[in-house]
Amino acid sequence: MTEKHKITIHGTGDSFEADSGEAVLDAALHQGILLPHGCRGGFCGSCLGELLEGEVTYPEGLPDALTEADAALGKALFCKAVALTDLEIKVPEYRKESHEVKNLPVRIETLRKLNHDVMLMELKIPEHEQFDYLAGQYLDILLKDGRRRSFSMANPPGKGKLIQLHIRHVPGGYFTGQVFDSLKVKDILRIEGPLGSFYFRDDSPRAAVMVAGGTGFAPIKAIIEELIDSGSTRPIHLFWGVRAKEDLYMLPLIEGWSEKHRNLSFVPVLSEPAPTDQWQGETGFVHEVVARQFPGISAYDVYLCGPPPMIEAARTQLAAQGLPDAQLFYDSFDFSTE
Ligand SMILES: Cc1cc2nc3c(=O)[nH]c(=O)nc-3n(C[C@H](O)[C@H](O)[C@H](O)COP(=O)(O)OP(=O)(O)OC[C@H]3O[C@@H](n4cnc5c(N)ncnc54)[C@H](O)[C@@H]3O)c2cc1C
Repeated sequence: MTEKHKITIHGTGDSFEADSGEAVLDAALHQGILLPHGCRGGFCGSCLGELLEGEVTYPEGLPDALTEADAALGKALFCKAVALTDLEIKVPEYRKESHEVKNLPVRIETLRKLNHDVMLMELKIPEHEQFDYLAGQYLDILLKDGRRRSFSMANPPGKGKLIQLHIRHVPGGYFTGQVFDSLKVKDILRIEGPLGSFYFRDDSPRAAVMVAGGTGFAPIKAIIEELIDSGSTRPIHLFWGVRAKEDLYMLPLIEGWSEKHRNLSFVPVLSEPAPTDQWQGETGFVHEVVARQFPGISAYDVYLCGPPPMIEAARTQLAAQGLPDAQLFYDSFDFSTE
């Protein structure tokens, strides 16, 4: 019989059990408790919390996002930490009764290029199954050789049995190469999800600044579409940073949003506009444009999603401008090391 450890969440009556060898985050997710997390690879730091009682180990070595010094101070990275004893942990927030993490076969229903290097992939859930999630979350595609690749749902839940993904072609990429070269409609894939704690905090009174980099637009699109469907009037300021004009897609859809949601603004930002773009809009790094347009950012909630360098730069900039950690939510598109 496997040994179990009790994990208590400090300051609440909540606890859950972890099997020996099971990461604390995995144990929580399997029991419907959504602890903060992002990449689950030890890189993004979203699952950083405190260990108040007990002992953990990191079977694969200390993860990238945890320094020796922080570990010695009692910090822990729960996506990789495995309990050696019962634990008492402290996390900035968590959600009870989150959606069940499922492992399901799905059929590719649509493959359509949205621009020169982004593919819309629609996946069909089996008839007798449900796949529930929070807008903003992601799933893992489980490949036959044991590797997994993460992609965010680009449509809100409850839209029939189809899940939309926006997949950017990574040059030389193992899986995204297949998406562009060999996968076909009707092929079967296996997914695991929902995962991630990038979702909209609808109990906040503040306006939201949403910052997407590249296909970081996908989960933000899902969140905004859900807000529009629910009749929300909470002000949303959307910034989308890409390299050149050819990288933008779904612009007519975004224009349509502004008609349905009167408090929504949209600013596309090009970091390297091509001469043929004849671009009159904002240029440079998207987080710098946000900093310039919102000097009083601490009055807002900020949602960031995109490649790791953008997330790092934006977090540093926003912290320097006085944005409290509790008002920052991010999903870093770290890539797998397998
Ligand atoms: C939570 C989460 C959600 C994500 N959601 C999306 C999404 O909605 N849409 C999307 O397009 N991507 C998303 N990503 C990123 C996506 O998972 C990776 O781009 C993908 O796994 C690459 O797979 P691959 O097998 O083609 O590349 P690999 O074979 O794994 O990588 C090949 C090489 O390319 C480099 N590389 C891989 N990925 C990237 C990258 N993203 N940026 C820069 N260099 C890279 C690495 O150096 C690697 O050595 C997400 C990542 C995470 C963690």
